[in-house]
Amino acid sequence: MIDAGQVKDPKALQRMLGELESLRRRISDLEDVELEVMERLEDTQVSLDRHVAELGDVESERSTVQAAYEKTAADLQAQLAALQDERRTTASGMPEDLMALYEKLRAQKGGVGAAALRRRECGGCRLTLNASDLGIIAKLPSDEVVRCEECNRILVRTGESGL
Ligand SMILES: [Zn+2]
Repeated sequence: MIDAGQVKDPKALQRMLGELESLRRRISDLEDVELEVMERLEDTQVSLDRHVAELGDVESERSTVQAAYEKTAADLQAQLAALQDERRTTASGMPEDLMALYEKLRAQKGGVGAAALRRRECGGCRLTLNASDLGIIAKLPSDEVVRCEECNRILVRTGESGL
């Protein structure tokens, strides 16, 4: 335009050159800002990548723990089912009144309604029975229910009772 000689007024030309210069500065400033924004974007991307990686680690650890938990829960469930089966089988041969007594004592005695008599000692309260009590127990028929004098639990006679 200038070379074409279309701007004849030197003041107008000066003004236009001034505007051109200010536009060039503005472009340069904007390029700086763009660069800064891009650098910040890169930093943010790096940080985001790191967080995504951390999240991946945490998720993988969580699924490992979850799998271990589920396996343990399944094992315990299976053990519980086996014990319940065993208990049902054992209880099925028991007289009803004996089971009722056992359940009552179990509720009263912290979950232990019957205890083995071993080496003259009650397995429930650790009382050692004296010779005369042992003598009485020894003479009772095997289907007679024996109770501990101390803790009241059903005493189960065993081969090691010391009778
Ligand atoms: Zn006892």
